[in-house]
Amino acid sequence: MHWLFGDQLGPHFLTPGEGGPGRDTPLLMIEARSVFRRRRFHRAKAHLVLSAMRHRAAELGDRLTYVRADTYAEGLKRAAGGRAVSVHHPTSHAALRLVRSLPQVTVAPARGFLTPMADFTAWADGHGGTSLRQEDFYRRVRRDHDLLMDGDQPVGGRWNLDADNREPPPRKATVLDIGRPYRPRESEIDDEVRHDLDRWEKDGDVSFVGRDGPRLFPATRDEATAALRRFVTHRLTTFGAYEDAMLAADPHMSHSLLSAALNLGLLDPAECVERAEAAWRAGNAPLNSVEGFVRQIAGWREYVWQLYWYFGDDYRHSNVLRHTGALPDWWNDLDADALEARCLRTTLAQVRDTGWTHHIPRLMILGGYALQRGWDPAAVTDWFHRCFVDGYDWVMVPNVVGMSQYADGGRMTTKPYTSGGAYVNRMSDLCGPCAYRPGDRTGEYACPYTAGYWMFIDRHQKRLAGNHRTARAVHQLDRIADLPEALRQERARGDAPP
Ligand code: FAD
Repeated sequence: MHWLFGDQLGPHFLTPGEGGPGRDTPLLMIEARSVFRRRRFHRAKAHLVLSAMRHRAAELGDRLTYVRADTYAEGLKRAAGGRAVSVHHPTSHAALRLVRSLPQVTVAPARGFLTPMADFTAWADGHGGTSLRQEDFYRRVRRDHDLLMDGDQPVGGRWNLDADNREPPPRKATVLDIGRPYRPRESEIDDEVRHDLDRWEKDGDVSFVGRDGPRLFPATRDEATAALRRFVTHRLTTFGAYEDAMLAADPHMSHSLLSAALNLGLLDPAECVERAEAAWRAGNAPLNSVEGFVRQIAGWREYVWQLYWYFGDDYRHSNVLRHTGALPDWWNDLDADALEARCLRTTLAQVRDTGWTHHIPRLMILGGYALQRGWDPAAVTDWFHRCFVDGYDWVMVPNVVGMSQYADGGRMTTKPYTSGGAYVNRMSDLCGPCAYRPGDRTGEYACPYTAGYWMFIDRHQKRLAGNHRTARAVHQLDRIADLPEALRQERARGDAPP
């Protein structure tokens, strides 16, 4: 038998290859209720994962045994007895420990990523294992996979067109003038999932957060390929320029919304980057957009996956800044209506309503707020994992512990990512009607991000002074006359919703 985890749903998990199933190997999927009991997940996420698993089971028909059990071990015993079972390398340390502890299970190499783990390990060890940089790895992936290459040089002469990709939103626009993202149509399977989730909640067995509105993300291979096609044909052109921009009325901007489908294994990253490259070669999308999108998938996604395994399971406990603050209830409950700070209110409402925001609200609005206030990075990671439709252990741990909370002291990024209100003001239309003013550090209208930024710099000035990318901010501390008052005021806010 071959066991498919709920994030191994695409055809590339069934093609012949090392350790994979044969053409007629019976298949097994286990829906383990205990997974939902462990954490208070966003309901739209629970819905999406169950819907995708059940849709796949329906497609595979008699070849697949679908078991509903309390735990994976119990489901396996029921479906396979003592039979030998193969499985592709799962996506979390906990799941890998589990499958390795079961004597009847053999683990085949991971699928759904571009670079084999052994290649990354050799590359990272070759760099001393410490000063690893995404940009170096990305160039290697581009070469290895002949992506946007002209011989051994990058097409257009530059590896990275990021400098062209930091545009604020177009002036006076409230939404980007591009095609709307793909929307799936729900099926009877979605009705059944909703019914089950209602029942589980009513029985007091599980508890969710967030709203389970109409399903927004693909649950089947057909839906996922339609979403990819739609993105590349109608939305990719402006991806680069507005990659970092935010508009209150346009949560999606030019982003692909493909992360959930990729992480469920419905799409293979290779097909995503190849389609984008083909659009550029056909003259249908500019290079800055195509390179930017390719870098997100062949660079960042790949790098995050590899670091998760390379740094090991203890990496999740990193906390060099010794942040121990608890997440307030309004944050845990996604209570956006309790907030006045418009950027955070808008972002938290997006999370509550859809379980998704694009990367800048994740990094600069949500992650930045938590970092400035010194919240426990493990708790912040858990929150992101539970509340985002695309959140899985492998992708959340490096993105939150490393990238967003700088809890690893710079193993993943060269500096902490956090900013004052001026950045949000430059990159969005969120500040205009806000109750706070991005330029104010003190007083009634002091922006919580501006005051919070200086609170963070002040708190960690010793460490930040030693980093050439943050030393300037530390030097500025002495020149801010109202700093003591800004810090006093912001500390007094405590956990109150801003
Ligand atoms: P696009 O902007 O269209 O990018 C294309 C694809 O690139 C994404 O679909 C995704 O697969 C990939 N990608 C880009 N950046 C990353 C990255 N840093 N890590 C992994 N993949 C990346 N992404 C997740 O898939 N799951 C998460 O749980 C997740 N948590 C995040 C938490 C924080 C604090 C931050 C800063 C980023 C996180 N990301 C996560 C990365 C990124 O924000 C999302 O992949 C992206 O916003 C998803 O929307 P999209 O599909 O429209 O992406």
